Amino acid sequence: MLGVAVLPHRNASPIYCNKFEAKISGRQFLPSVKFVAKRRIEICPKINVVYYFIDTFLKLYSILLPMAELVFKDLSFEKDKGKVKVNFLRLFYFYLEEENLARISQYEISKNSIIFKNVSESSARKKFEFLLANSFKNLKNKLNNKKTIYIHQSSGIPLIGTNYFGLIDRGTNIIEVKPITSCNISCVFCSVDEGPHSRRKADFVVEKDYLVNEFRKIVEFKASNHIDAHINAQGEPTLYADMVELVRGIMSVKGVKRSSIDTNGTLLNKQLVDELAEAGLTRINLSLNSLDPEKAQKLAGYPYNLSKVMEIARYIPTKMDLIIAPVWMPGFNDEELPKLAKFAQEVGAGKNCPPIGIQNMLNYRFGRNPEEAVPMEEFYKKMNELEEKHNIKLIFDKADFEVEELPELPKPFRKGQIVKAEIVLPGRIGNEKLAVAEERLISVLNCYKEEGTVRLRIKRTKHNIFLGELLN
Ligand code: SF4
Repeated sequence: MLGVAVLPHRNASPIYCNKFEAKISGRQFLPSVKFVAKRRIEICPKINVVYYFIDTFLKLYSILLPMAELVFKDLSFEKDKGKVKVNFLRLFYFYLEEENLARISQYEISKNSIIFKNVSESSARKKFEFLLANSFKNLKNKLNNKKTIYIHQSSGIPLIGTNYFGLIDRGTNIIEVKPITSCNISCVFCSVDEGPHSRRKADFVVEKDYLVNEFRKIVEFKASNHIDAHINAQGEPTLYADMVELVRGIMSVKGVKRSSIDTNGTLLNKQLVDELAEAGLTRINLSLNSLDPEKAQKLAGYPYNLSKVMEIARYIPTKMDLIIAPVWMPGFNDEELPKLAKFAQEVGAGKNCPPIGIQNMLNYRFGRNPEEAVPMEEFYKKMNELEEKHNIKLIFDKADFEVEELPELPKPFRKGQIVKAEIVLPGRIGNEKLAVAEERLISVLNCYKEEGTVRLRIKRTKHNIFLGELLN
């Protein structure tokens, strides 16, 4: 059996890296050299002893120089422009320089893994994680090529304090969950100026487990069994690759009764609706602003497949509840509103909620604001008229959505208070920065400092969304 013994397999048990969910395993190397040694032994038995030593040496050599395969759940690799492109959570990417990878060792990439040769797994893992951590600073969004920041459990960035991402508690049983910024269409009325035509400076994406863990803390604080998790990103939430698992995580929290998601529906398909339903999602709020293809396209401000959205609207009620949620743009889609209300009834929307929820197009400081907003009194007058004319209910109140008042998270600052805060992130508007103090994010407008400590006067505290004025 000399020289033909199977070399001991040295598979390491998988190691999980929190940040990137990497599975790393050691592997045998040098199989071709092993084959050469076996043939020589058969040809010339006299030199068995020599080849025994060679074979033993090769065994030891191969053990000392294993192959490390790093397998990732959220990353995939491809060669692009002489570099290695790393895709992260489907929507985001950054590049690794080939020379930096080659410094770790000779390597090969396949879809979700990278194999380093002649290097121990611990060394490969350590060096590659270091490279990844540095390269994540160059993360970009594929839709708009904007800088993107990954907010994860070890980032030290709180999830409360901003409207952009994280969690918002407005003192009711509804907790808003914001996993991502960015949108795939560009609605002319968008209140957050999202989509491919957006003027926003940066995008954010939040680690799913971090969101669920922090969400759980708010639910525990509220001590209620009627918590409603509402996923309403500044953008299109179905762009978030971990959406199904996010819903599953949220619905596993004790006290959560329902969950819903605001979506433009363009990225939904039957399989995704099935998966979301299976994960526990109870309702979809579907933005559908017109049943006329031309009008729908104009309102979307981007190529828009109305028939696909209508088809998914017909399917959703077979799996969970549905609200059709159009925005009324006075003078543009007025006649569409009763048609949308009838469509909502026809498809079976509104089993445990109103079938339609028409929204007034309001003006926001940093929104698109294509027209002057109609005052709320006029909006309700219009809804009343439509209700009478078409015999449909269009005005709903908090009770229709089972909203109940519950204690709101304590605010660590009061209006006018002077606080010291650390700049941690770029903002989304102009020279805005996001700073941290007392485990809250504070938006600081017109801040030219990129980092360091700043003195701020707190200007806004409502619902733990903070705005600070720079003092130095
Ligand atoms: S779908 Fe929503 S987030 Fe996207 S552009 Fe339209 S209004 Fe804005």
